[in-house]
This record gives sequence, C-alpha cells and structure tokens, in this order.
Amino acid sequence: MTTPLLKVERLRKSFGNHEVLSGIDMEVHRGDVTCIVGPSGSGKSTLLRCLNHLEKPSSGAVFLKGEPIGLKWRGERLFEMSFNELAKQRQKMGMVFQGFHLFPHLTALQNVSEAPMIVSGVPRARAESEAMELLAKVGLGDRAGHYPHQLSGGQQQRCAIARALAMKPELVLFDEPTSALDPELIGEVLSVMRDLAREGTTMVVVTHEMSFARDVAEHLIFMDGGVIVEEGNPREVLAHPREERTRAFLSRVL
Ligand code: ADP
Ligand code: MG
Repeated sequence: MTTPLLKVERLRKSFGNHEVLSGIDMEVHRGDVTCIVGPSGSGKSTLLRCLNHLEKPSSGAVFLKGEPIGLKWRGERLFEMSFNELAKQRQKMGMVFQGFHLFPHLTALQNVSEAPMIVSGVPRARAESEAMELLAKVGLGDRAGHYPHQLSGGQQQRCAIARALAMKPELVLFDEPTSALDPELIGEVLSVMRDLAREGTTMVVVTHEMSFARDVAEHLIFMDGGVIVEEGNPREVLAHPREERTRAFLSRVL
C-alpha cells in the first residue's frame, strides 16, 4: 500500500458544545476520486473545510503527504503554524464550492490567473497562457473575457474549477459542486469532473450525484451524525449497503 496523499486521524470538530464531527479517520490516495455522501447536517461540509483548515479541527489531525496541516514540529512538539505558513499549505488543496464564489469584478481569465500571479508571483504572460489552457480544458475557451454575471451557472462553476486547478494543487475538494445548478446544467460540470478524474486528478467530492459516485469514484464514504457509517467500493456500497442507516439514506436518494 502506498502512503496516502491525505490522511485524517481521529478528527473531531465542535461548535460550542455541539459536536459535528465525532472522530473521522480517512485516507485519500493519489489519483483517486473519493465521494462523500450523507444526509444534510451530517457534517460533510465541515469535514471538507477541516481538511484544508478553513475550519480548525477541535482535535485530531490532517496530514498531506505526511505533513500535518496547520501544525509544525518544533523539537518534539507540534505547534500551530503562522497564517502565512498555513496559506502555503492550503494552496496545495483547491476548493470548489456549491455557490461558485467567483470574483464578480474579474473576467473568467482574471479569475483563473489572479492567484498564480498575486500569490505565487507567476509572470502575467505565463499566468494568462496557463489560464487560457485551463479555460479551454473546461470548455470556456471562448468565454475568457466574460464576467461571472455574463456566464451561466454551469459556466461559472466550470470557471471555478479552472481557478482551483490554476494553483496546481495536489488535490481538489468539491462541496456539492452541482447542487446550486439548474438540472440541465449539471451534466456539463460533471463531465468536466469526469475528464479530470480520467487524467488522474485527486478529488474529494461531496455530492448527491449517485451515478457520478458509482461511475467515477474509487472510494465512497457514507456519513451520518458526524461519523463515517460505511465506506468502500462505490458499486459495492450502493448495491449492497451493510448498515441500516446507509440503506435508509439510499432508499431516499436513489
Ligand atoms: P452537511 O454539509 O453534511 O449538510 P454541515 O457540515 O454543513 O453538514 O453541518 C453539520 C452540522 O454542523 C449542522 O448541524 C450545522 O448546523 C452545524 N454547523 C456547521 N457549521 C457551523 C458553524 N460555523 N457554527 C455552528 N454550527 C455549525
Ligand atoms: Mg454541506
């Protein structure tokens, strides 16, 4: 077994005295697509946000290529990192949200080229040519000069995916990337995600799209009540769920 790209150990997260994640252990291997499914409120978004420390875990740890996220060794003890050090680690994980979150005052090209230029100091000419390649890859080669409000929801989400890829992340986290889309626009976003999977992009995808999970994912995780109830090969889990809670959930969504 190879070392996992991402490893989560005994992760817990509480808001006040409400425990939302109650001890999550998981591994993500390079090149794999991991889908996370489960009822609303089960902690999926919180887990995703803890992976890149948009939320700070209450306890437990996340390791990217063996390095703890947000923490560093000083002698024999782990200390919290500075904000700048954490920002560097976060860049290794791209994130795509349900609501796209593009910069409204920037064109598609600028949305994609901004971070490489500002954060990584990539020269404009190179940042823009790489951004154009990414926009072409997500089918927006002819929309580079458009502002978000001039794009459909599906186009905005594809632009957000291109933006997440622009920093050349080790993996990309997707939080219900198609849930805010009109049904006829879902397919174009899933198709871009399928292409990325085929190219070997490591992805963790919270989704309700069970056919995407079945056809594309290497690993399926079913969460409920802040714990992983069941996980495994997507076809297996979907066809033969072992746990009653998984069966109940699947009977509602399939
Ligand atoms: P899911 O994405 O599976 O729907 P979430 O991770 O968004 O679930 O939420 C899990 C629980 O955590 C919910 O009860 C939600 O109300 C609570 N929660 C999420 N974020 C916060 C927050 N910032 N403050 C307080 N409670 C939160
Ligand atoms: Mg959520």
